[in-house]
Amino acid sequence: MRIVVLAGGIGGARFLRGLKKAVPDADITVVGNTGDDIHLFGLKVCPDLDTVMYTLGGGINEEQGWGRADETFHLKEELAAYGVGPEWFGLGDRDFATHIVRTQMLGAGFPLSAVTEALCDRWKPGVRLIPMSDDRVETHVAVEVDGERKAVHFQEYWVRLRASVPAEAIVPVGAEQAEPAPGVLEAIAEADVVLFPPSNPVVSVGTILAVPGIREAIAEADVPVVGLSPIVGNAPVRGMADKVLAAVGVESTAAAVAEHYGSGLLDGWLVDTVDADAVERVEAAGIRCRAVPLMMTDLDATAAMAREALALAEEVRSA
Ligand code: GDP
Ligand code: CA
Repeated sequence: MRIVVLAGGIGGARFLRGLKKAVPDADITVVGNTGDDIHLFGLKVCPDLDTVMYTLGGGINEEQGWGRADETFHLKEELAAYGVGPEWFGLGDRDFATHIVRTQMLGAGFPLSAVTEALCDRWKPGVRLIPMSDDRVETHVAVEVDGERKAVHFQEYWVRLRASVPAEAIVPVGAEQAEPAPGVLEAIAEADVVLFPPSNPVVSVGTILAVPGIREAIAEADVPVVGLSPIVGNAPVRGMADKVLAAVGVESTAAAVAEHYGSGLLDGWLVDTVDADAVERVEAAGIRCRAVPLMMTDLDATAAMAREALALAEEVRSA
């Protein structure tokens, strides 16, 4: 079975671990969000690609959900001693090596997709991880600070400001000119199922879909598309997705997120059992919907979610 997953960071990576356990023999292609990418200290950092790579490759800091296990921060401290920041972005010593290798390869002329493949040679994530695009796309957030409207990099909004100021707009800068990375459209065309994990619908999956050609390929392919809600009980399970949903005028409910994707894209949608009353509304929007446990508390629970998603895809296919 060929499965394509559009993934952000933590939510996407944890789901993928369950998916691999549920269908160990599946051929899984992950299209990763690169809208969160940022240049720091002259280095190209790709937080979502690395979260997927480290999580599936066994190098993730489990408690935190991002960054390396057994991490130290000597380099960051030394930079701070020179007054060189930003200090709000936590790059550890082990993690730095990844960004150095990536930046060096990019400088030598390799596209990000080739660099990601090279990094994965070490981590062996057991999936094919492709960035959504080799072109630079950077999510910016329009905010109002002290009565002044300005655009900040997504990481500044998310990590430094902790989404504490209202976001007025979310703009994937560069997306309009970006092209899908080699292999993305091919994987979608050949897929037996496309899954949207419980990743952020706006700044993870939404950014991937903003690369011209990807949304169209998914909508037009004769393949079941099934998503899992990152919103449980009218709030994100983790993080501040409600803030970016508000910026695009979508309420933080499992049903509203399904409607936001729409029946033109989604064939099936899973909501958590606490949101069982959303099923009717989602189905009224033309999307098949089931209420099942959606908390990724451990690997078995996550694998069960993946099985439910594949079962719903099967139902769509044979309908
Ligand atoms: P990020 O790039 O690290 O923010 O990660 P993603 O975009 O891939 O996923 C973030 C989303 O995962 C958040 O909106 C969370 O609500 C969602 N999430 C995290 N843990 C769980 C979980 O156990 N169950 C569900 N349903 N969603 C989760
Ligand atoms: Ca992210």
